[in-house]
Amino acid sequence: MENKLKKSVQHKILISLLLVLSSSFFIKCSQKEKSQISEEEWASLPADGPNLSAYERIICSSEATKSELYAASEFQRLFKEFTGKELAIDKTDSQSGKSILIGVEATVAAGLQANTEKMGEEGFNIDIAGEKLAIYGGHSRGTLYGVYEFFEQYCDVRYLTHDHTFYPAEGKDKDFRIKGSNYSYVPPFAFRWSYYGETNRNPAFAAQLHTNTVAGDEKLGGITGYKLVIHNVANLVPPAIYGKEHPEYYALVNGRRVLEMHGGGPQLCLTNPEVLEIVVKATLDAIEKNPKIKNFNVAHMDNSSYCTCKLCAAIDAREESHAGTMFSFVNAVAERIEKKHPEVLIGTYAYQYTRKPPKTIRAHDNVLIQLCSIECCDFHAIDDPTCSLNQEFCADMDGWKDKAKNIFIWHYNTNFRGYLLPFPNLRSIGKSVEYFANNNGRGVFMQAAGNGFSTELSDLRNYVMSRCLWKPGRDSWEEALEFCRMHYAESAQPIIDYLTYYHDLIDKENRHPGCFPTEASLFLNSETVKRIDNYFAEALALAKSDDVRSRVEKASLCSYRAKLSVATMELKYENGLCKPSLDDVDENLLSRYAELCAKYNVSRENEYIKNDVYLAKMCKIYSGMTAVRLENDYWRVIVLPESNAKIVEMTYKPTGRNVIQPARSLDRFRFEEWVRQGDGPKADGILAYKVIEKSPIKTVVALTAKDGALIERTISLAGTAIHFETTLKAKKARAFDFFVHPEYDAGSGSDDPQEVSIYVKAKEWLQANQGWVNAKPTDEQSALIKEGLKGGSFAYFNKKEDFGVEQRFKPGAFEDINLYWSPERIQINLEMTPIVKKLKAGEQAKYAYEVHYLAKEPN
Ligand SMILES: [Zn+2]
Ligand SMILES: [Zn+2]
Repeated sequence: MENKLKKSVQHKILISLLLVLSSSFFIKCSQKEKSQISEEEWASLPADGPNLSAYERIICSSEATKSELYAASEFQRLFKEFTGKELAIDKTDSQSGKSILIGVEATVAAGLQANTEKMGEEGFNIDIAGEKLAIYGGHSRGTLYGVYEFFEQYCDVRYLTHDHTFYPAEGKDKDFRIKGSNYSYVPPFAFRWSYYGETNRNPAFAAQLHTNTVAGDEKLGGITGYKLVIHNVANLVPPAIYGKEHPEYYALVNGRRVLEMHGGGPQLCLTNPEVLEIVVKATLDAIEKNPKIKNFNVAHMDNSSYCTCKLCAAIDAREESHAGTMFSFVNAVAERIEKKHPEVLIGTYAYQYTRKPPKTIRAHDNVLIQLCSIECCDFHAIDDPTCSLNQEFCADMDGWKDKAKNIFIWHYNTNFRGYLLPFPNLRSIGKSVEYFANNNGRGVFMQAAGNGFSTELSDLRNYVMSRCLWKPGRDSWEEALEFCRMHYAESAQPIIDYLTYYHDLIDKENRHPGCFPTEASLFLNSETVKRIDNYFAEALALAKSDDVRSRVEKASLCSYRAKLSVATMELKYENGLCKPSLDDVDENLLSRYAELCAKYNVSRENEYIKNDVYLAKMCKIYSGMTAVRLENDYWRVIVLPESNAKIVEMTYKPTGRNVIQPARSLDRFRFEEWVRQGDGPKADGILAYKVIEKSPIKTVVALTAKDGALIERTISLAGTAIHFETTLKAKKARAFDFFVHPEYDAGSGSDDPQEVSIYVKAKEWLQANQGWVNAKPTDEQSALIKEGLKGGSFAYFNKKEDFGVEQRFKPGAFEDINLYWSPERIQINLEMTPIVKKLKAGEQAKYAYEVHYLAKEPN
């Protein structure tokens, strides 16, 4: 395989720079007689090399590739920007004097050696020591990358954004000399993708940052043949083709072969020999159609509904991981493919239920695994021993090191539910990337706001990430500071102060934000957003040019967006309306934010919704939403009928505590109820209920679904209880299939089951989360929760804060209860699924439950 990395290359020391001293140039460079050099050492080398202004022309052969010709023109452009001197590009070097040779052909024609054997597609040499300065590299991108690296390494030029390259002023100095050492580099990762709109939309800029996954013109040297592993097993064995006659091809889940499943489709029954034949054939067909691609995927779908049939379960049990069945299947496919296409890799996931390596099975040498870190904390580095979430991942990666030859990592680097919110991971990016490189990682997909544009500090982040991927070992924090100084110039310091303040804050508050954090995990509140706002105001006041002012303004989007979130976390009730609480916040906040979004082409609010949809939603909230307030001696409850009838406040008056989780903005869900099947309100399909009855202690809200079904919800106060009742009257035959999704305040971010305890009632009360680690149950432990279905009670209690909530229901009325506990978000959901009923036209069904405040532990 090309670009094959020797094991040693993956150690830190060899990821640093290599100095190649070819013998003919050795005399001038003898004082740096080293075979490798670190970035620090490189920085300390004296500038005793050639004077740049002495070069007279660029030579690039007529035999050169399109990419080498482009490399020569890029050298010409950058040289002129840096030194002020324009060099002509000639095809042959017929004159004496100092020339720049670009590409292998020009170098060889000048009588120099140009050995590219170990350079792969992207490695290069820069020989500076003779009359001729030569830059050449492996086909197809090495020479172009060498040109960009020349200006970075020797001239301190930086490719900051697609329209801002930083040139130090010294280049214009007639006496400017570069370092007197040759330089050579082969990147350790064969696949590098800093996934931002900023590079995805600008292939030429992507090439400057050595991102080898963004396709552009041929002159940019093409992209790597490695492809991202994507969920595809249900496409290889389409249920539409096989489902009816062969349901046994698909995963057995809860005793049923499922043909439909969220996350792209059902998983397969991987021990069925016919399934193997179909997958092998589909893969062979794909290989024939795409001869340049290096890996073909056999990867599970994006859900955890793996097959539980006897044969599959037996392998998983033996291997102590669901990766057991997956890898014995993928190995079988890989064996068959290898016979015909030994050069091709079979790509698969080690993701969620397959992340833990199997006990005995080793991935075949022609298997590529994409190891995914979706459960990890982004604030801490992957190998930070103080972060227990990341320690679990490290243990798995350590296990894979000896079980797979080709490990690619899929790392998550943004807030997928809020692309523009502050995100505190700039100190961990570099360390995590370095860890991947040191542990056999051969490629890294840094997933971020790739389908967005102008997201939170996206220019800075894209720069930092790309540079860390190119040279693992770089310190992302230092890279970020460098970007600030060069890009924000006179306004840099307050932005650096903001980054420092915010990262220190998350550290001090001991938060572990992952890639789906809420405002609680990001510690955004009225106090912190005010402080963030001040830093950006200060930076803006320091800007002296329009360029810097607009860069700072763009960076300040994150501060506006954070303020918008905070304003909708606690809503103010007044005369039947709820509005954002805008104390201390500019009334024009939303319109100003919308204006800036338009100016800087913000396209998406998050991975799932476009920015204009978000702004329209916010507009509705800002103009005030109809609200119903219920109140008795014990409770004050506020319902928003127009927004899925969310409960946004549930304050127990004797203690003054609002038990609803408020620390998240209103653009996401709260305490609400959804339909799982059929028309009606959904998590991402908000509908408006009409208020049809209202008294101080009772409200009835209703909506008619598209299929004519009437959904009616009654919320009422009766002493210390809040009653909930939902009725569905079917107009046509349909399923009565709802989901109760209450989000409560956990009281603290502790993951200690002795502090935050979950209870269910079977015959007696049981504590259901005993022994949980990282707030997660083992398969056995999660079974205990279901005991609550028998006794009809589901509760939590925070022993430090001395409060809790109990949900009571009629035993037998619900088919499932499920706990979502996130210490990071300070959140507990006591989720319940009523029994599904098939209704005929005209029939109706209902479910009911009660909420009680707990002032002491249940027992
Ligand atoms: Zn099976
Ligand atoms: Zn952490």
